Amino acid sequence: MMNITIPFVDLNLQHKPIQSQIQQAIQDVLSRGDFVLGQALKDFETAFAIASGTEYGIGVASGTDAIALGLQACNIGSGDEVILPANTFVATLIGVLRTGAKPIFVDCDPETALIDLEAAARVITPQTKAIIPVHLYGQMVSPKQLLDFADTYKLLIFEDAAQAHLAQRDGYRAGSVGIAAAFSFYPSKNLGALGDGGILLTKDPDVAQKMIRLRNYGASKKYFHTEPGTNSRLDTLQAAVLQQKLPYLPQWNSDRLGIAQQYDVELAPLASRGIIPMENHSGEGHVYHLYVIKVDDAGGLERSLLQEKLTAAGIQTGIHYPIPCHLQPAFTNLGYQVGDFPYAEKLANQILSLPMYPGLSNSQIKEVVAVIASSFSNQEQKLAYMS
Ligand SMILES: *Cc1c(COP(=O)(O)O)cnc(C)c1O
Repeated sequence: MMNITIPFVDLNLQHKPIQSQIQQAIQDVLSRGDFVLGQALKDFETAFAIASGTEYGIGVASGTDAIALGLQACNIGSGDEVILPANTFVATLIGVLRTGAKPIFVDCDPETALIDLEAAARVITPQTKAIIPVHLYGQMVSPKQLLDFADTYKLLIFEDAAQAHLAQRDGYRAGSVGIAAAFSFYPSKNLGALGDGGILLTKDPDVAQKMIRLRNYGASKKYFHTEPGTNSRLDTLQAAVLQQKLPYLPQWNSDRLGIAQQYDVELAPLASRGIIPMENHSGEGHVYHLYVIKVDDAGGLERSLLQEKLTAAGIQTGIHYPIPCHLQPAFTNLGYQVGDFPYAEKLANQILSLPMYPGLSNSQIKEVVAVIASSFSNQEQKLAYMS
């Protein structure tokens, strides 16, 4: 195992300064004993909904459940088609499939990796009920364009905001654009629990009420079940921890933005050699869950080699995601094949996520970029030697 000098994420950095607050919050839940659907959960649900510019929050066990149950709460299911980008985390797809609806993939914009709404317009049928914009890497799909699109085609917007806590664009916050929005509190997300968690946000009281039933065995009151729900609640303990972390989220997000801006500046000289950061079209509203570059091998460097060089230098990187959903072996039955979504497929081969977390220092950013720059000269030396 190689020594890690710069990790991909460092959660200790965010937890250490608030450790005693977190311990106190856990102690308070322990004293009250309201572990399931307790007071701290209600407090956090309201706080997070308000911070996101909407009304109701319903905490669930994971982001995946927020998508699956949330779509059901919006009355989406068997017989419906739901449009989603091919280049999302597989949980978006799994959420759709769990409702019984048919997922319809579309390609993405190669500069931002966000869903291409013009492509989405071409796959609409009388069965199309909803579109899931995934606010990928922390950048929102343009709310203005989304609302126009949904209005034109009479579709519901269901946001996958798992990577976009408190992101903003066109004057909207993530979670306030569509009928409902799903968030994840997986530990490494911009707002993370000490384990799994998720939430559905909505302005619609009917969706909220149905979601409250669905996460609690479909019960409208105790031992009276109006629909086949499940058991998926955000633990009071996790909510209490999240409530402690929420006030720091704006600062953490702005730290991420500052880090991204420094990466942009440091990487600019490498643009001519095929190192291109994903574009930011939302200015300061981008919350940079991930900082993603494209590595175009026409510039002389292969992504796999670059990733190896970074690893050898102790710098952890990631690929989000290496295989688009439509090419995952589990979903061949959906009938898609190689070539269906050229941009998503090309990005899967080019993207590389660099270390990104609040607390990543200027000198660490310079070090990451220095190793990227030196990977070219290494490769040139190797090529010169071989020829
Ligand atoms: C993390 C993530 C999810 C799933 O959230 P879990 O809490 O891990 O179930 C869904 N969609 C996207 C885009 C994600 O990044």
